Amino acid sequence: MKRFNLEAINRTLAEKNAVERVAYGLERFGQGAVLLSSMQKTASVIMHIFHRLGADNDIVFVDTGFHFHETLSLRDSFMRKYKLNIMTLYPKLTPEQQEAEYNCKLYKTEKGQPVCCAQRKGKPFIDYMIQQGKQLAFGGLRKSEGEARANLGILSEDPRFNGYRINPILDWTDEMVDAYLLEHEVLTHTMHSKGYPSVGCQCCTTPVKAGEDVRAGRWRHLREEGEEGPVYCAMNYSDGSGI
Ligand code: SF4
Repeated sequence: MKRFNLEAINRTLAEKNAVERVAYGLERFGQGAVLLSSMQKTASVIMHIFHRLGADNDIVFVDTGFHFHETLSLRDSFMRKYKLNIMTLYPKLTPEQQEAEYNCKLYKTEKGQPVCCAQRKGKPFIDYMIQQGKQLAFGGLRKSEGEARANLGILSEDPRFNGYRINPILDWTDEMVDAYLLEHEVLTHTMHSKGYPSVGCQCCTTPVKAGEDVRAGRWRHLREEGEEGPVYCAMNYSDGSGI
């Protein structure tokens, strides 16, 4: 596929607002552009922008088989309220088949977790992108989340499917996300208000305590108190997955 001058495009995109950035991606990539939705706050923002722009592009959600029922319910509510084209992808194995194949619950161990995330999150998404010939995936990553995300460009390459990722709200703060959701009365994950600022799979997510990082509740079982451990899965290439 055509290669882009990322530096020049990112200079242009930096001057645009989030809606214009989404419109840019949709116009430039047509039906080759999809949104990868986590059903969390930032995904709610971008799904709502798709709705505002009348985009019928695929919105993909990966059902790991371990989600909270509230996550699946939010997906259904978005489809009903905003008439979005949300499609659900599934891993090759059910949780039971995976446990039988590996003879353990992978998510319970430091060594098994990346394998589980790769099989149940990354692979269904990458396979879909390649098999459907898609070239651009929208996402809701933000610089303020730190780590590799702090150095990301709005448009970046994703060599796993020989295409690109675009994060239209890369420069937004938490306050900007909340203000958008409030202003447009957008549906959000009900667990955010119950101590879960970041919601992943049920078996790998706990509420956060006062003063903890917003992602401290993810994979808490894989680290001792005060120790470092995984905070991101392998879904986003920029987080260093290399699936
Ligand atoms: S978050 Fe946990 S259960 Fe979900 S895919 Fe990753 S390791 Fe598996």
